Formats: sequence, structure tokens, C-alpha cells
Amino acid sequence: MVVVRGEGGYAGGARRLVGAAAVVLTLAGVGVALGGGLVGRAESPPKPPPSVTSAATPSTPPSAPLDVPAAPRIVSDHLAFEAARKAETAAYSLRHYGVRTARLQPSMIVLHYTESDTYASVRSLFAADLPNRGEAPGTCAHYVVDQDGTIHELVPPTLRCRHTVGLNHVAIGIEFVQASHGHDPRWAAQQVLARRAQALAGASLVEHLQRRFDIPDQAVIGHAMANDSKAFRDLEGWRNDHVDWQQPEVVAFRRLLATAP
Ligand SMILES: [Zn+2]
Repeated sequence: MVVVRGEGGYAGGARRLVGAAAVVLTLAGVGVALGGGLVGRAESPPKPPPSVTSAATPSTPPSAPLDVPAAPRIVSDHLAFEAARKAETAAYSLRHYGVRTARLQPSMIVLHYTESDTYASVRSLFAADLPNRGEAPGTCAHYVVDQDGTIHELVPPTLRCRHTVGLNHVAIGIEFVQASHGHDPRWAAQQVLARRAQALAGASLVEHLQRRFDIPDQAVIGHAMANDSKAFRDLEGWRNDHVDWQQPEVVAFRRLLATAP
């Protein structure tokens, strides 16, 4: 089922984000990669460019100097996104956003939680491609972050999928495995934030996507915030009725992104 895919300098070594040192290392290099392009990350002095620091570690490949963050380990477990589902997605995009395309040029990231306890159950739901609100394609998300911190990529971030009404034309969707078990919806997001491996893996994934697509922290939002986004657009007049990831927990999540060593 799984193929491990490395990206952007991932050296194929031990799992990252298993401890504070790995997190600090990951976050420390963000300012280098972004050149100050994102907010809230300039609390430490700028680091020298990778080409300088890598000279001290000649055994390290130039693509993976020690002070530049490796991409998070992402397990590729793609849904069968065949021509039919792409065509359904393009038709949905035409109806709701006015352009017939399945391609995504992401400028936002929307956080979700799964309302289920296992990765397997949410994956099979997304794989089923069942109509939602009477329309194809089925719902999906680009990534699912499991409770142990495993990051699964279900759909490449350059393809659209249905996770957030009004923002599927601009947003990558990330699901965290978590059910609310009858609690207040904010409780579920708080469980994710309190689960260190899962929260830090999610932060690492978001930072990786921010670097890749130049997405600012303020464009990382929760599903519950989608209707109020400036980018929200739905030509059919649809609105979200989901309550996952409300603003206080999203602000707390963004603080993980902004943490400087
Ligand atoms: Zn959601």
C-alpha cells in the first residue's frame, strides 16, 4: 500500500519530529528557505546560506545540509484519482468556481479533523468517491495526519479535491485523525494540539507546503473559518456547515509554525 516518497532534500534517514531537537532543527531553517517572506518567523538571527554551512560537513550531500530542514516524511497512499474523478472534479470546479479544471495552484491550507478514530476508515471514505450534497466527485483531503504523526498523502497538492466548500479552488486540505466523541467541537482540535507527535507532524507538513507554495501563516485556517475567508467563492451559493478547527485552536496551531529556537 505504501511507498515512501522523499521530497526536497529529504535524506531518507530516521523519522523526524520525534523530539524537540528535530523540531527546532526544522523550524530553524524556515527563515533561510523563505527569506523572511512569511510573518512571525524572524525571531532568530538569519542563518548563513546552506552553501556556506554545508562546507563544514563534506559527507553530507549538498541537498541536505545539517541546518536546513528536511522535508517531513510523507507516505504516499494516493487515491485512485483516475480520469473519471478528474473530470468530475473539473465539472464541479466549473459549477462552483467558474473554471473547468482539476488543477490546483494552492494559496491556502485548511485544517480539518476526521470525526473518526482511524486513518483506514477515513481513507476508505475518501476512496469511495460517493456523491456529496448530491454532486460528484466524493469528498477527500490531500493529507491525513495520523495520531502517531504519520503523514499520508492521498492526493497530490497540485490536484483539487473536495474538502471545503468555497475554497477547493485554492486550498490544500489536511485532516487530523480525531473524533469528537460527543464533546464540544473545539475539544477535538485541542486533542490534536495536545498530542505532540501528531501536532508537530502537522506543523512540519504545513511548513513544508508553505515553503513549496509560498503560503503565509494567515492563509492557514480551520474549516470552521472558511465561510469568512476573503478567498471564499461558491457560484451555487453553498456555505460550509462544519465546525472543525475554530479560530482559537488555529491560532494555537500557527504558534507551532512561528516557534523560533
Ligand atoms: Zn472539515
